[in-house]
Amino acid sequence: MLRVSNLNVAYGRLQVLWDVSLEVREGELVSLIGPNGAGKTTLLRTISGLLKPISGTIEFMGRRIDGLPPHKICRLGLIHIPEGRAIFPLMSVLENLQMGAYMGEVRENFKRNVKEVFRLFPVLKERLGQVAETLSGGEMQMLSIGRGLIAEPKLLMLDEPTIGLAPKLSELIFDSISKLHEEGLTILLVSQEVRRALELADRAYVMENGRIVLEGTGEELLENPDIKKSYLGL
Ligand code: ATP
Repeated sequence: MLRVSNLNVAYGRLQVLWDVSLEVREGELVSLIGPNGAGKTTLLRTISGLLKPISGTIEFMGRRIDGLPPHKICRLGLIHIPEGRAIFPLMSVLENLQMGAYMGEVRENFKRNVKEVFRLFPVLKERLGQVAETLSGGEMQMLSIGRGLIAEPKLLMLDEPTIGLAPKLSELIFDSISKLHEEGLTILLVSQEVRRALELADRAYVMENGRIVLEGTGEELLENPDIKKSYLGL
């Protein structure tokens, strides 16, 4: 569904991604792990059209998307939930969800899609009229994922969805990601909660210093001695 080939990306003269290749097949949950500053966010931002690569290609559902503007990529069903609970703070929960449906046909399906979001995150239904900035951190993250789901993703890219959350809330978010995956959604997940990210993943990639240094199934990487030592503290 997604094929990134030999991608090189720089901020000005500072190159941060080097020859990155990665694949996500339909129905897969693929995790991308790696230390701070490895380039994970940069990769997601490049895939969603916010950054232009120096070289390399990105294909989504058989079509080249590198060079397309972000809104066109979004309209193809490649939805990026950025790090940091990207919500509209002064809008209500309902208005935030509506912002996920501002494009084309998705608008007509809003009622049906919002029901799905409430099934996944019942608490949002209770908070519909509440101004988003007054939500708890966990609720904001649910809202940010919910808004992405309203846009009917074919592939959902999640950047650090549990950062800064208490363990229980973090678990709830991971459970919802797992549920979406079981229901057939294709997901690319960036997370520093390495154990959880690998447990959930069909396959995973490890990025260090702007390069993919390791790939394998979630199980393989959980058993890998380097991963155990560097990421799992074992
Ligand atoms: P984290 O987990 O900390 O978010 P990351 O793996 O997502 O890390 P990136 O945010 O992609 O890493 O950053 C990769 C490198 O690019 C870092 O060295 C960072 O300092 C640099 N970088 C990121 N954004 C910019 C920018 N706007 N301008 C210049 N350099 C940047």
